[in-house]
Amino acid sequence: MAEALAVLIRLLVVSTIVERVLEIASQIWDYVLQADGKPKADPGRKRVILQTAGFVLGTALSLAMGVRVFGMLGIEGVPFLLDLVFTGILVGGGTEPVHSLIKFLEENKDRVKRELNEARAAPETVMPELETIGISYRGGLYPDRPGHGLRTGNPDLIVFHHSATHLETSFDRIVQIERERDLDPTYHCVVTADGRHHNYCRWDSIGWHAKGVNTRSLGICLVGNFHTDPADPSSNANGRFGPPQPTEAQLDTAARVIALWMLLYNIPDTQVVPHRAVGNTSCPGDRFPAQELLDRARKYREMWARSEVAQKELAELRGKEGVYV
Ligand SMILES: [Zn+2]
Repeated sequence: MAEALAVLIRLLVVSTIVERVLEIASQIWDYVLQADGKPKADPGRKRVILQTAGFVLGTALSLAMGVRVFGMLGIEGVPFLLDLVFTGILVGGGTEPVHSLIKFLEENKDRVKRELNEARAAPETVMPELETIGISYRGGLYPDRPGHGLRTGNPDLIVFHHSATHLETSFDRIVQIERERDLDPTYHCVVTADGRHHNYCRWDSIGWHAKGVNTRSLGICLVGNFHTDPADPSSNANGRFGPPQPTEAQLDTAARVIALWMLLYNIPDTQVVPHRAVGNTSCPGDRFPAQELLDRARKYREMWARSEVAQKELAELRGKEGVYV
């Protein structure tokens, strides 16, 4: 904004010079005609001549003083001549167009400032919540049923998936699908597009989510289809499963669940992997922001390790049934 005003001040200087010169020219014109005893000039004709003179003068002055609107505002890609002609037209009209521009910028300054402040204030309102874990656990969907059997030891691997269904699929529907496939229970946690987490398989039990590593791992599923390979008929290449990336709220909740598991079971971040890293699959899809998920999970883990509130929540969760074998 300050930069734009500095540019306008330079324009104002040039346009003031043009305005004064035109005023003098207009007076001389009238004086000469009157001296000759001729009638006053036709005002329409005079305006056209003065406007043309103003444009020529404005362009010449802008060229001499190195004043170019687009160039000074840092707007690239405008040819030199076009920039010069535009500047000439602007300042050639005298100070009025430049004044209107200044007024416009002044009026919008407050709005821009307010919007900037609001944007800056936004993270502060979320900050206190970041310190708390905010993930509940009461044994999942079947508190009395230990999944596909109890583990023999605590998990040392976290596998993340997509559901390969529409982004808006409900948790109930996901469970129904797994029942139809005879896999129920599969994931230890399902995160829906609204950012809610749904504990499914008991955390101390084996879920059928990643063949080969089920006995030692925890599975988390983000609802949606994030694979867009057109060669794969079950992919979301044409967008029929909704947006091809998880929602902001969904990604954030998934990162929280992963961070919590890392803390509960002491799992290092090198042991948090996409399904495709341990199986013959494209899950969770080529558009899945795996790195972003990992970065966020790491950030939460570090934040909670320092947070007193989070440590309290963690102690409570450690004492619950269905967490450790
Ligand atoms: Zn998967």
